[in-house]
Amino acid sequence: MNEFVERQMKLTWRPPKKAYDVVIVGAGGHGLATAYYLATRHGITNVGVFERGYIGSGNSGRNTTIIRANYGIPAAVRFYQRSVDLYRGLEEETGRWLMHQEKGILWMAHSEAAARTERMRAKLNTEFGAETEFVGPRRVQELCPQLDLDGGGRWPVLGASYHPQGATARHDRVVWALAEGAMERGVDVHQNLPVEGLILEGDRVAGVRTAAGDIAAGVVVSAVGGHVSRLAAMAGVRLPIRTHRLQAFVTNHYRQQFGPIVASSELFFYASQTARGEMLLGAEVDPQPSFSYRSSHDFVQQVCRRALYLLPFMSGLRVLRQWTGVCDMSPDYSPILGPTGVDGFCITTGWGTWGFKAIPAGGEQMAKLIATGEVPELIAPFGLDRFARDRTMADRASAGTH
Ligand SMILES: Cc1cc2nc3c(=O)[nH]c(=O)nc-3n(C[C@H](O)[C@H](O)[C@H](O)COP(=O)(O)OP(=O)(O)OC[C@H]3O[C@@H](n4cnc5c(N)ncnc54)[C@H](O)[C@@H]3O)c2cc1C
Repeated sequence: MNEFVERQMKLTWRPPKKAYDVVIVGAGGHGLATAYYLATRHGITNVGVFERGYIGSGNSGRNTTIIRANYGIPAAVRFYQRSVDLYRGLEEETGRWLMHQEKGILWMAHSEAAARTERMRAKLNTEFGAETEFVGPRRVQELCPQLDLDGGGRWPVLGASYHPQGATARHDRVVWALAEGAMERGVDVHQNLPVEGLILEGDRVAGVRTAAGDIAAGVVVSAVGGHVSRLAAMAGVRLPIRTHRLQAFVTNHYRQQFGPIVASSELFFYASQTARGEMLLGAEVDPQPSFSYRSSHDFVQQVCRRALYLLPFMSGLRVLRQWTGVCDMSPDYSPILGPTGVDGFCITTGWGTWGFKAIPAGGEQMAKLIATGEVPELIAPFGLDRFARDRTMADRASAGTH
C-alpha cells in the first residue's frame, strides 16, 4: 500500500460474510467499477469483491492508461464514448484527484492506404459520437513538434486522425477511488483471498469457494482479467479467450513538453508522457499465448528501434523501468460481457490491451445487467453468444498497434 492509499483513503475492511447478493471475483478496474455502480446507481450493497492479490494488482495497475473512443465499429465507438464521458466526471463524482488529463491522440498515417483508413476512422467516429478529424502534416507538427515528419526517411507522416478527447488518468488512483466509493456504501472488498472454486447447484452457480470458507451468492461475476479461462471452466463455460503477455516501459525524465499521445499502427507502437515526465511506450501483445509476467529485452529493443523513426529525441533517453501484464484476448478484439448461459454466472472479459478506458462504462453496464436482469442495449452486441451466432465484432485495427 502506498502513502496515498494509507493516509487518504477511507477504507473499511470487514471479514467475509457467509452470503452476498453479488460476489465479484477480481478487484481490478472492472470488478470494482461493477461494485461501485451497483452501490451508487442501484443501491445494491450486499456485494463481496474477492481479490487474490491486492486491489489493482492485475492489469488495472500495469497499463499505459490511455483513454479514448476512436474505435472502428459503431457499437464500440458508442460504448467507449460512454466511458470517456464517465471518466470526465469521475473525479468530481468520487471526490478524488485521478490525474485525469485530456491530451488528444494522434494516430499516424505513413502511406496513402493508412491515410484513407484514418480518414474513414474520423468519419465513422464523428457519425457515432466520438470527436475525431483527419489532420495534415502541418497540424500534426503543431500538435507535436518533437515528431520527425520524415519518419527517418522511411516512415513519412502523411497525416493523422486526431481525437482531442484522448486522455490519461492515474491507474491506481482510479481503482482505489472506485474501491473507496463502493466500500463506504457497504460493499466488502477482500484482498489476498483467491476464489479457488465455484459452488454449483444443479445447472446454477450458487457461490464461491475460498480459504475463508464457502460463500453463497445470488450472482457470481468473473472479472479476473487474463485468468478467466480457468475460472469460467469451473462453471463449465469454454471461452474463446487466449492469454498473452503485454509489455510497456518508461524512460527517464524528458522536459515536460510532449503534449499528445502518439500512435502508429504501421510502426506498432504508441507513446505518451507521464505526469513525472517519463516517456511511456507500449506496443502489441506477444504473439505466443502465455501466463508469464517476465519482461523481455527483445521487446524494448524492437519498440525503441521503431519509435526512433518518429521520435528521434528519444535516442538521448534511457529505459528506466519495464513491466508486463497478461491480457485476455478475444478473437475479434472486442470485449465479452454479460450472461454466460449458466444461471447465476456472468463475465466481464476480453478486455485485452484496451480495457482501462472501458472501466467506468463496463462497470456501469454490468451493474445495470445485474440489477435489472436485462442486458443493456450498449453492451448487447458484446455478448458471448455472438460467436455461436456468427456475429463477431471484428475491431482489431482499433487496438492501436495492429
Ligand atoms: C502493459 C499494458 C498496457 C495497457 N495499456 C492500456 C491502455 O493504455 N489503455 C487501455 O484502455 N487498456 C490498457 N491495457 C489493458 C487494461 O489494463 C486491461 O484491459 C484492464 O486493466 C482489465 O481490467 P480487469 O479489471 O478486467 O482485469 P485486472 O485489472 O487484471 O483485474 C483482474 C483481477 O482479478 C484477480 N484474480 C485473478 N484470479 C483470481 C481469483 N481466482 N480469485 C480472486 N481474484 C483473482 C487478479 O489478481 C486481478 O487483480 C493495458 C494492459 C497492459 C498489461
